[in-house]
Amino acid sequence: MNIPLMDLKAQYRSIRDEVLKAVEGVLEGGRYILGPEVKALEEEVAALCGVDHGVGVANGTDALVLVLDALGIGPGDEVITTPFTFFATAESISRVGATPVFVDIDPGTFNLDASELRRRITPRTKAILPVHIFGQPADMDEVMEVAKESGLWVIEDACQAIGAEYRGRKVGSLGHAACFSFFPTKNLGGYGDGGMIVTDDESLARKLRSLRVHGRTPESKYINAAIGYNSRLDELQAAVLRVKLRRLEQWNGDRRRKARLYDELLRDLPVQTPVEAADRSHIYHLYIIQTEKRDELVEHLKRHGIASGVYYPIPLHLQQVYRSLGYREGSLPRAEQVAKRTLALPLYPEIPEESIRRVAETVHRFFEGS
Ligand SMILES: *Cc1c(COP(=O)(O)O)cnc(C)c1O
Repeated sequence: MNIPLMDLKAQYRSIRDEVLKAVEGVLEGGRYILGPEVKALEEEVAALCGVDHGVGVANGTDALVLVLDALGIGPGDEVITTPFTFFATAESISRVGATPVFVDIDPGTFNLDASELRRRITPRTKAILPVHIFGQPADMDEVMEVAKESGLWVIEDACQAIGAEYRGRKVGSLGHAACFSFFPTKNLGGYGDGGMIVTDDESLARKLRSLRVHGRTPESKYINAAIGYNSRLDELQAAVLRVKLRRLEQWNGDRRRKARLYDELLRDLPVQTPVEAADRSHIYHLYIIQTEKRDELVEHLKRHGIASGVYYPIPLHLQQVYRSLGYREGSLPRAEQVAKRTLALPLYPEIPEESIRRVAETVHRFFEGS
C-alpha cells in the first residue's frame, strides 16, 4: 500500500457527522458572508492565541498583504524576512510595493537567524516578518528586542504554526500582529481557502475589518474610507474550521508524538532529524529531515510507494522574479545549503504507526544500500 505525505480524507472521515451538521447549519441559516460563524471563529482563534482580536480574510497570503497595507508599508519601504519559506511570505511584501530583505537562517531550526537582523536594518526598514517555519516558532524575543530598538513592526507569518508555543506563549501573541492560513493542508485547514490576522492592537483590527470589505466604514456600506480589498473568510469555511479547532490541540499532540517516533527510529542514520528548541513546542506542520543524498532518497522512497516532499528547493533570494534585488548564489549560504538537503516525510495526525515504521525501515534500507 502506498503511503501519502498527508491524508486529508482520513481526517474528514473522523469528523464527518459534525462537519456536515455545521455545513447544513450555515446553508439553512442563510448568512453566507461575514455572519455569526466567522465572528465566533475570530473570537475562538484570538482566545487560543491569547490576544484580543481576530480578523478573518480570504487566505493566508491576503492576511499578510492586508496587515502590511494596514500598517502603511509600501513603496520605498523594506521588510526583513527569511528566504527559506513559502513564496507568499515575500510575495506579500512585494505586493504592497515594499522590498523584501532576506537574512540567512539557522540551519538547525530553519528559522531566520535573529543575530543577522541588526546589520540588515536601514533607514527604510519598517518591519520584520519572521516565519514559524514547519511549525516551530522563530526566536521571537530576539526579534522583538531588535524591533523595539529600531521602532519596527513585527508581523508573524504563523501560517504553518497555529497552536505552537514559544516560552509558554502561543504564536500569534508574540509580534504586533500574526497571520494564519486555513489552506486545507495546514494544521488547521478548511475545505477551501481561508486566513486570519490576530492582534492586540484595536485600531489595527479596525483598519483590517474595513480593508477586507473595500475600505468601507463601519457606519455605512456606501462610505469608503480607503481603497481596500474583497477578502473575506466565508461562513461555510468558518463553520468547518470551528469543528476542527476543537480538535487542534489533540491533532498537534498526535503530530508531536509521531514525530518523536520518527526521531527514535531514524536515530542511528546519517540523516539529521528535526531540531526542537527546548523553550518551544514544535507542532510539526511538516516533519523535515536533512541528508546529503536527498534526491536519491526521494527516488528510493517513491520506488517503495512512499511519498515525500521537498520544502523548499529554491530559497526565495534566488527566485528568478527577485533577480533584480541583487542576490547571487552564495549570498545566503546556509539557506542555500539547506535547500539542497531537506525532505519532508509523511506525517499527519491520523497516520498509522505502522506506516511510520515502514517509512523508517525504507530509509534504513536506503542507507544500507539495498
Ligand atoms: C501557506 C502559507 C502562506 C499562504 O497561505 P495561503 O492561505 O495559501 O494564501 C504564507 N506563508 C506560509 C509560510 C505558508 O506556509
